[in-house]
Amino acid sequence: MGDMILPGGTIGVLGSGQLGRMLAIAARQMGYRVHVYSPSEATPTGQVADREFVGGYTDLEKVREFAASVDVVTYEFENVPEATATACAEIVAVRPNPYTLQVAQNRILEKTTLAAAGLPVTPFRPIRSLHDLEAAVAELGRPSVLKSAESGYDGKGQVKIYAETDLASAYAEIGNVEAVLEQFVAFEREVSVVGARGTDGTFVHYGVIENEHVDHILDMSIAPQTLPVSEQAIEIARGVFETLDVVGTLCVEFFVTEDNSVLINEIAPRPHNSGHLTIDGCVTNQFEQQLRAICGLPLGSTRFHAPTVMVNLLGDLWENGEPNWGAALAFAGVHLHLYGKGEARIGRKMGHLTAVANSIENAKSIALNARNALVTR
Ligand code: AMP
Repeated sequence: MGDMILPGGTIGVLGSGQLGRMLAIAARQMGYRVHVYSPSEATPTGQVADREFVGGYTDLEKVREFAASVDVVTYEFENVPEATATACAEIVAVRPNPYTLQVAQNRILEKTTLAAAGLPVTPFRPIRSLHDLEAAVAELGRPSVLKSAESGYDGKGQVKIYAETDLASAYAEIGNVEAVLEQFVAFEREVSVVGARGTDGTFVHYGVIENEHVDHILDMSIAPQTLPVSEQAIEIARGVFETLDVVGTLCVEFFVTEDNSVLINEIAPRPHNSGHLTIDGCVTNQFEQQLRAICGLPLGSTRFHAPTVMVNLLGDLWENGEPNWGAALAFAGVHLHLYGKGEARIGRKMGHLTAVANSIENAKSIALNARNALVTR
């Protein structure tokens, strides 16, 4: 704890979306200053930061100027180039370390590294040519999922290979780039473990969070959940933190199969959408936890006050005009979070609603009813 960064210090955030915004809010609440490095102006994070450095991620001169202005750098977006994080690391501590960023941004490296550490990942093959794809499909079978190795999120850069799918067209669809082929997992449910690890190696977690996706995008998260696989998933998450020597908040997303085994789908070395419910549901939320971890402070309690459900608000809700906020907020136990994004596009994450109630069932129905009420006139 010798090198704690104390309130009054300056947190540097690479990336400027909603995750940086909620981290910045936690940081400002605790009396820190926030500098954000962003490719555009007046971003969700920039709106609440003390200073927004606007520049390209490859403008390393500007990146160094940003790094020199802060006490620690973290990132809220895993497609920040590794070279950008490394340039910062020459000047100031970067947490989680740039290697973790590199691992998380390439599905081949991610799966290979985790599998080598004995952690269970979805069966996969690296793909660098159509020939690799043909051989991999022969081995893993159909259905399977082809995912570009880099820059994929929320189902982007993915194509499902069915019995009739032509492999050359499928590979062309993701741009003939480096990829992985994954066996299709007939999962029973999807869960995540959001955790944090301090500079002294202390590990905390929020237990298992259950997630429902619609069109590959997270739609609803539910916690706390106790499942037969909870302990297993938590221990795997701990293994990920230790393998990569992560300091900060990280999320491990899992598939749970019918026979109660868990497979890692992917990792996100930052606060995660499924952990947003910790803001209203927990003693210490995932963003404050990230802040405490990267500043070398003691981590906070992850206890839930009550059952909590989060639903995402996508741009689709704006299709017929501004949502009816008053109608949603009329439900007891509902909290509204909006990310300050100007343009509501279909599929764009604009905000979320959280419902805190006396049971998971009630929290779920309140969250869904509140979201439905947004489109009433
Ligand atoms: P990803 O971007 O890899 O997290 O994938 C987004 C969503 O697609 C996941 O949350 C799953 O719902 C689905 N998905 C991805 N990979 C697989 C797989 N190998 N088997 C079954 N469903 C998958």
